[in-house]
Amino acid sequence: MPSRTTRSRTKQNVKPEVSNSPTIASLVPKLEVNDDVVDTVVEEDIKQVPKKQQRKKKAPSAEEADVKPLVASKKPKKEAKDIKEEMLQQSAVAAQVLKAAGSSLKWLGVHVSAAGGIEQAVYNARQMGCRSFALFLKNQRQWASKPLEDSAVEKFKNALQECDFPVERIVPHSSYLFNLGSPDKDILEKTRNAMLDEVQRCERLGIKLYNFHSGSTTNKCTVEECLTTVAETINLTLKKTRGVTLLIETMSRQGNTVGGHFEELRSIIDQVEDKSRIGVCLDTCHIFAAGYDIRSETVYEETMSEFERIVGFKYLKAVHLNDSKGALGSHLDRHENIGKGLIAKAGFSFLMNDPRFNRLPMILETPEGSYTDEMILLHSLEDRK
Ligand SMILES: [Zn+2]
Ligand SMILES: [Zn+2]
Repeated sequence: MPSRTTRSRTKQNVKPEVSNSPTIASLVPKLEVNDDVVDTVVEEDIKQVPKKQQRKKKAPSAEEADVKPLVASKKPKKEAKDIKEEMLQQSAVAAQVLKAAGSSLKWLGVHVSAAGGIEQAVYNARQMGCRSFALFLKNQRQWASKPLEDSAVEKFKNALQECDFPVERIVPHSSYLFNLGSPDKDILEKTRNAMLDEVQRCERLGIKLYNFHSGSTTNKCTVEECLTTVAETINLTLKKTRGVTLLIETMSRQGNTVGGHFEELRSIIDQVEDKSRIGVCLDTCHIFAAGYDIRSETVYEETMSEFERIVGFKYLKAVHLNDSKGALGSHLDRHENIGKGLIAKAGFSFLMNDPRFNRLPMILETPEGSYTDEMILLHSLEDRK
């Protein structure tokens, strides 16, 4: 079976890593939108970007836009006429996406920016015709953050009501700095405090799902020790909160990250005390890079049967839809636009026609371009005869 031959279950990556330092991470521009574990990415980025350029400004990505509320905006103000035209265009685009969705049970959405206030995420999602969405609850590259004001909570709830958006389909993504399984006591404590803060924000906002990367051994502990620490972090967070289900993301096995094998997800779930509030978020790019193929009907079925057997679809609560720049089993966490990467359209067509993925938030984290076109493309892959 191709998925088995390409997946190495024993080899551990032993390359030295830069620690999870927020100082380094905040200085280095990231290559990929949304998703990578800081310890490995930082190292790669430093190699590719000469020091002087690291501080230079570049065109903001969707992700960087999330940082903006903390920095004074230098953009010239838009004329009222421009804003109106823009809104009309956006609502026309949203209508196209929703028309393409029709009666589909696939709840497609986008990781949207929350620049300008958390309620803006809801409006941004509506303007693209999203039926689900992800966001960062605070600056994903800083440990410290301003407390969530009551007025912000009220604005968010008003936006949900105004847009008639189901809160159950919102899946915030955790900070990139977290390592839930860190062997470093300081990083672990910082992660646990910051994660609790984020889940408490979900509680206040009425959000029911929250997704995170489990972490990394940083080559300083065994995978088993790391998984146990991850489960302890989850247990601590669950005990102190209510009503929010924590979703472990399937990882690409980049660097020393854990959560790339389905068995590792199972091990974490087994050690979680309250199984009613634990789930999984399946990232298509990550599973592919980890060695799980979905490009033909046979291998797709094999991969999904393996997921069912080891993890169980009952734990699947959300999906990240990303094509992959990296090859099968490459461990590279590099997202590509749907249909333009190595998974290609066929892989997504199996998923879009699989009823096991019905009624789940399915969120794009692809490079910025045209998310609406990507959602229309995905719906066009559905066979609705
Ligand atoms: Zn990723
Ligand atoms: Zn992620």
